Amino acid sequence: MMKGNFLVISGPSGSGKSSLMKEMLKEISNACFSISTTTRHIREGEVNGVNYHFVSKEEFESDIDAGYFLEWAKVHDNYYGTSLKHVLKELHEGKMVVFDIDVQGHKIAKEKFGDMITSVFITTPDQLRLQERLIHRGTDSMETINKRLANAVSEMTRMREYDYLLINDDFMETLKDLTAIAHASRKKMSLVDSGEFISEWANAE
Ligand code: 5GP
Repeated sequence: MMKGNFLVISGPSGSGKSSLMKEMLKEISNACFSISTTTRHIREGEVNGVNYHFVSKEEFESDIDAGYFLEWAKVHDNYYGTSLKHVLKELHEGKMVVFDIDVQGHKIAKEKFGDMITSVFITTPDQLRLQERLIHRGTDSMETINKRLANAVSEMTRMREYDYLLINDDFMETLKDLTAIAHASRKKMSLVDSGEFISEWANAE
């Protein structure tokens, strides 16, 4: 009776959303992470096919032309996109599909899937904290960090488009909240075929 659903997580790069998502997925059964495709360079510690599908710009552009993506966007000068085929397969299997996508991707996904989406915006308590985390992460050049900080401000102006706001000050507290939201997202009335449920409920022997 219940179908699968989508949990979209966005927020500035460095807000801790990837680590939160990874830990949250350990707590939720029958859920999976939507592995995006990107043209950005692979960071130390990342694995192709696990964190992202890393492809060339030419390959990405030919996939756009082939209609491969549910949504795609250019973020910090790189392409990022979500494969439509993979997501639909997981959804039909009744899974919760978790997305780490930016504000542009969330808008498109919302237009296509409406109430099947529960969305969470994760950020730091302030911009200074974000800068510290990006520097501490040590994976990006100062030029890239500045680009990400500038992009963070414009992403923050769109946080009202989301269902929930999480301010990641204390990791474990934020993880608890994110896990609670993920559980609740499965209980949305919009995911229920009420006609079918009532008929089974009334005719139970
Ligand atoms: P990063 O390079 O730090 O992994 O990700 C940069 C930004 O791209 C993040 O805000 C992340 O949410 C976003 N992003 C990752 N995958 C996708 C995707 O498939 N679609 C869109 N629209 N954004 C994505």
